[in-house]
Amino acid sequence: MFESVLLRCGDCRSEYKAIDKVWRCECGGFLELFYEKGFDLDKLNGRDWNFWRYEECLAISAQEKKVSLGEPCTPLLLQRIGGQELYLKLENINPTGSFKDRGSAMMINAAQLRGIDTVVEDSSGNAGASVAAYCANAGISAKIFVPEGTTKGKLDLISLSGAELNKIPGDRQQSAIAALEAAQDNYYASHCWDPFFIEGVKTIAFEIAEQLEWKAPDTVYLPVGNGSLLLGVFQGFLEMLELGIIDHMPVLNAVQTAGCAPIYSHWSGQDLEHKPTVAEGIAVQTPPRLEQIIKAVESTYGQFFLVHEEEIKRALEQIIKLGIVIEPTSAAAVSVALNADCDKGKVVVPITGSGLKAVGKLSDLI
Ligand SMILES: [Zn+2]
Repeated sequence: MFESVLLRCGDCRSEYKAIDKVWRCECGGFLELFYEKGFDLDKLNGRDWNFWRYEECLAISAQEKKVSLGEPCTPLLLQRIGGQELYLKLENINPTGSFKDRGSAMMINAAQLRGIDTVVEDSSGNAGASVAAYCANAGISAKIFVPEGTTKGKLDLISLSGAELNKIPGDRQQSAIAALEAAQDNYYASHCWDPFFIEGVKTIAFEIAEQLEWKAPDTVYLPVGNGSLLLGVFQGFLEMLELGIIDHMPVLNAVQTAGCAPIYSHWSGQDLEHKPTVAEGIAVQTPPRLEQIIKAVESTYGQFFLVHEEEIKRALEQIIKLGIVIEPTSAAAVSVALNADCDKGKVVVPITGSGLKAVGKLSDLI
């Protein structure tokens, strides 16, 4: 599969081969993956319960992959919380405790198939820890750039995996700038730019549909920073819809915090003051894919929601007291889902990351 994949620019339509070491087009545009996709439900019987089971719809097949940390299919747990029924997709149980492992698994396999020996990544923590772990297993050197205020558990995980950890003063944007500079000489394995990353993340949608007996849910609430989760989930449901596997597209609702809401601001036309937020995973001030995110959400008849710090903390406490150890970023989307005022049908909220990397911080918040 990998060798037949084409990367095409969404702006100028230039094409590249999968083996080419490119993460964006020469014109600066985003690259998309093109290949013959399929979905044969009969073939899934007997396959391992990991995301490579959907290989007819993946740019790298199970046989082609060189590196794996297991990538288990994660549970879809139905919970009744405060009178609402929510399906929680437990992405916190991934190898390094976040959904980012899906994207890293695909992106670092692509890097290895391309013969890349060093990568650069910037992150608010989870993506850095994930890329560092996959690179460690693949024997690829990783240089990770994070804001200096990142949660200690995430920083420790990055260092323990043997990656070069670069703590950058300032906000998340400064880390992105530093990584881009370092990428002049190295491959930029960016969870925001690399099309193979979204390719991995889309498997969340495949699993949700399979867990609901090949039916799409009605509504999904997603925390949005750089948008790799939302765009991956959108891509997954869209491909299943186009292949006739599901009969409708769920409504995808995007959640940002009141302290950092550039996409909400753009969408609503409101100017909002930037403030610190406990939801560090979505504290992204300049998401490069802003226009794509708005287009995806609107095409599903979804909306953008703002959530305040107190609401995040309340939802965090509610979920942790159910025994599910989530991080504050996940609680942002749970909060909006719990406060939805009408029947939204089957509602899914991905629990994007584990709170185990930030237990000290959680104790302070609750
Ligand atoms: Zn281009």
